[in-house]
Amino acid sequence: METLHTKTIIIGGGPSGANAARSLAESGEDVILIEKDFSFEKPCGGGLFLRAFDEFDIPKSLIKKRVNTINIISPNVEKVSVDISDHPLGVVHRQAFDSALRDLAQAAGAQVIEAKMNTITPTPDGVEVHAHRSDGSALRIEAEYAIAADGVNSSVRRRLLDEVPSRVLTYYADLHDEETASCQFWFGDDISPGYYAWIFPHHEGVNVGLVADDKHRMRQFYDRFFDKASINESPPKPKGYFIPHWKPMTLYRDHVFYVGDSASLVLPFTYEGIYYALKSGKLAAEAIIKNDPDLYEKSWNNLYLKKFKFLRILQSIFLRNDWWATQMSRLYRHQKFQRAVIGYWSGTKEPYGLFLTLYKAIKALIVYR
Ligand SMILES: Cc1cc2nc3c(=O)[nH]c(=O)nc-3n(C[C@H](O)[C@H](O)[C@H](O)COP(=O)(O)OP(=O)(O)OC[C@H]3O[C@@H](n4cnc5c(N)ncnc54)[C@H](O)[C@@H]3O)c2cc1C
Repeated sequence: METLHTKTIIIGGGPSGANAARSLAESGEDVILIEKDFSFEKPCGGGLFLRAFDEFDIPKSLIKKRVNTINIISPNVEKVSVDISDHPLGVVHRQAFDSALRDLAQAAGAQVIEAKMNTITPTPDGVEVHAHRSDGSALRIEAEYAIAADGVNSSVRRRLLDEVPSRVLTYYADLHDEETASCQFWFGDDISPGYYAWIFPHHEGVNVGLVADDKHRMRQFYDRFFDKASINESPPKPKGYFIPHWKPMTLYRDHVFYVGDSASLVLPFTYEGIYYALKSGKLAAEAIIKNDPDLYEKSWNNLYLKKFKFLRILQSIFLRNDWWATQMSRLYRHQKFQRAVIGYWSGTKEPYGLFLTLYKAIKALIVYR
């Protein structure tokens, strides 16, 4: 069996792991990343704000489509268009995107290996990982730190903390013969109680899906959504995949950092995870570079804890039932409300403007309804 030694072993080569590896390598740190399947395509809409490409220095050539409009569709199918051309979204092909991020990490000096982690065990000075390469050969890696970047089904979290990331189910399909220029968010108890259903531009065609936590009724919601959205095609067999449903979870313990989906770091309400995967990978790397592991959780909480909590509260109010979702759609008719939401969501504005606008808009709804 081959044995390797490194300061940091990263398990998982999606956005969180690849960006952590790149940040470490760019600072001259010794790092190995293992990814079980270089050709894996993460089930994902692939949408993220364009500003992430500048922030993380990711080539814009990876953007397959640009989105300048979102549509909010109420339970009784009233549509509101929201112009987001000042904060556009880019759509990426996840297989190409993840692969490019790993290439960037490798070019910076990280060792990137196609291998699947089988076990991870604590040692007095760090961790020991057992893996097998794609050719079947066994690998043992000893490291001072590990970064769990192995996604929503994180086996690192399961093995070391005996828990899975908090999560809910999605049902989705890619439709290659359909097109849409906008990201459509559909609300309603008949298709996605407590969450939303979507039609998003995909790298090819569109991606259609919904989030719900009622596994017995997923298929019923999915079929009904095709009908309600008048999608021309009959519903193809859906694919199912978990998506994190954020709650505060362990971010660092005993030499192991948990980033991205492995720590449920997906924004409540919108279920946007790529940006937060990239960012958490970078923050974990900075904590390692500064030899201050606790810095990771501190930085994360300083930057995002309030935002995540606030969006969780908004989700529990506005997606409580059809009546509240209808009021939310009505709020979106107000330009000021739209600007405040998009500014806050995209991370370019502080929440105070949103608080104030929300307060004024709800007051207006009560007075003028
Ligand atoms: C249907 C759906 C649609 C979504 N749409 C969007 C969207 O439009 N925009 C958005 O921002 N977010 C979206 N998300 C969320 C987004 O996909 C995730 O938040 C994001 O991929 C998390 O990145 P990650 O690096 O933490 O994990 P992942 O991207 O899941 O990467 C984990 C990696 O670890 C590897 N791995 C797992 N186990 C092992 C092991 N034992 N050994 C080695 N490697 C291993 C996997 O192969 C994988 O490459 C969507 C999610 C779903 C399910």
